[in-house]
Amino acid sequence: MTYTSRKTIPYDLREARVHTVGAGRAGGALNFFLAGAGVGALSSNDPQAVEPDNLNTFAFSSADIGAKKVKALKHRMALRENSTFRWLALPIQADEVDAFIQAADLVICCANTVPGRLVTEEKAIRYGKPMMQVAAFDGRDCLGGLISVRLLENSWSACAGCYLDPNRNWSPAGTLLSTVTSALAALAANMAVAILSGVHTQVFREKNLFYVDLETYAIEALAVQKRDGCPLCGKSTEMSND
Ligand SMILES: [Zn+2]
Repeated sequence: MTYTSRKTIPYDLREARVHTVGAGRAGGALNFFLAGAGVGALSSNDPQAVEPDNLNTFAFSSADIGAKKVKALKHRMALRENSTFRWLALPIQADEVDAFIQAADLVICCANTVPGRLVTEEKAIRYGKPMMQVAAFDGRDCLGGLISVRLLENSWSACAGCYLDPNRNWSPAGTLLSTVTSALAALAANMAVAILSGVHTQVFREKNLFYVDLETYAIEALAVQKRDGCPLCGKSTEMSND
């Protein structure tokens, strides 16, 4: 039996499709939150297997060790009757992921490498999809992270290729607190629901980068302009005057 509460799901997102790149701490939590919000079609790609370090999250248990993260997540997601969850145990670079990107209304990247983030952004641009990036800071430096939102109508908006250095190894896995990644995922899911429903989206027309400080509990919203010569989106210069 399928039961949908109108009180807990104010927007009808049953037709909405979201693809998440990376099904680890942030990506796994995001899928749960989006399913709980009523998003009807979820999918995720991630080539990695569950390791003991992944167990301090609510997505995985010790029985999942060695299994692909996306497959383990599928078992948990099966409890969400209102959502379908499709998975691919492949990196974003794989051609097979493209069909998922093409079908999505929104692409969310929780990859833990810069190349993975740049390829996701490139594919989202190629297929004309709005996208978000969710990244936790290395917990040794500070607690918090960054969430970017790039709407198609924002011609001024930077993409990840505008500000991420492809040569920088930026992989904080191992020093992440699951409370931090879950908090970031919850904020990102809230933003995704706004974008998918088209309600409360004014802020995303003016700002595209959200610095989340989980030590002072402040969120700073920034407007980061496109960079001329960006290899992913930098075709024109008109947007910087918007
Ligand atoms: Zn760019």
